[in-house]
Amino acid sequence: MMAASVKVIELGFVQEAESWRLRSLQFPSKTGGRPAWLGEAGVPGPEAVQCGLCGKPLAFLLQVYAPCTGSFHRTIFIFCCRDPQCHHGAERRCFKVFRNQLPRKNDTYSYGPPPDSPPPASEDSISFQLKCGLRLCRVCGCLGPKTCSKCHKVNYCSRIHQLMDWKLQHKHLCNESFDAQGVQVAVHGFLFPEYEIVTEPEETDSDDDSTGMELDTLTSEDTSSCIESSLDELKLDENELSAMAKQETKEDKIFNSFKKRISSEPEQVLRYCKGGDPLWLSLQHIPEKDDIPKCACGAKRMFEFQVMPQLLNHLKVDSLEESIDWGILAVYTCAANCNAEKHYVEEFLWKQDVPGNTM
Ligand SMILES: [Zn+2]
Ligand SMILES: [Zn+2]
Ligand SMILES: [Zn+2]
Ligand SMILES: [Zn+2]
Repeated sequence: MMAASVKVIELGFVQEAESWRLRSLQFPSKTGGRPAWLGEAGVPGPEAVQCGLCGKPLAFLLQVYAPCTGSFHRTIFIFCCRDPQCHHGAERRCFKVFRNQLPRKNDTYSYGPPPDSPPPASEDSISFQLKCGLRLCRVCGCLGPKTCSKCHKVNYCSRIHQLMDWKLQHKHLCNESFDAQGVQVAVHGFLFPEYEIVTEPEETDSDDDSTGMELDTLTSEDTSSCIESSLDELKLDENELSAMAKQETKEDKIFNSFKKRISSEPEQVLRYCKGGDPLWLSLQHIPEKDDIPKCACGAKRMFEFQVMPQLLNHLKVDSLEESIDWGILAVYTCAANCNAEKHYVEEFLWKQDVPGNTM
């Protein structure tokens, strides 16, 4: 394996795309909308796609199509809770990550490349049924084992989503002549706005040494003025103060280094570098080796990609009150890339909050 320093980093950007390009047949990387499931076997059910804190159904956040040696098709999916109350500090139980893979020869997709033109208009509407027959929730696009008991034509993952759809639309439509496929689905306000994620390699300057900066090389000059001005008020001894100032400056330095690294492409929402290192924005809450649990197969997990705070700008979650928030979402996946062909393997996400936001 190559050393981390020479790994190419792929940057991801959001881009408007025609809806058909974001469906399963096209193997998209995308954010928002409903998940474009890859394999149909083992799609996680409602009990797997629920918030570890409040228990409500999670919303689809994004998926990254990332084939690798041994996996012709391979997609990583991230879900997150819509309730801002679940997103405090470094809390990560409100996120779920799944990995799924398919060989080139499979029952769902053609062996050749995906079609490069839109399907007939009649097939372009959102489908709430997988090819294999399983029905999906009309609100969130996850498995929908619950059927409307009156018309038996629409499905939901949960009672919460059934009620959501009932109030907005279904109570007006629910009868025998209702055409579930022909009716435009209601806008429930549950999904995030849908965009394609396109990637391009990061261009690095020759003076990029700053990113591999030495955190311990700060001199006392860096900190002396700040120490003098605050000595009297704080009544701390000089050593203590020096240590504090040094800590602060390290923190500033890593944040400045983060900003510098993304300054050439400030719109990046994703950094993909399998087996590389995350770009942290703070010294606080960086995982130790033991903080990253092993995969269920027993292999260790390695870093694969990180979601950047810039993605929040596209999610329409801003409000004057608290909202969904993060600094870095670092995704770690099975280093052995163990079999995920008949099921969706849960992977691991580490959340680093923006410094000062920890509550
Ligand atoms: Zn929640
Ligand atoms: Zn649902
Ligand atoms: Zn009904
Ligand atoms: Zn594994």
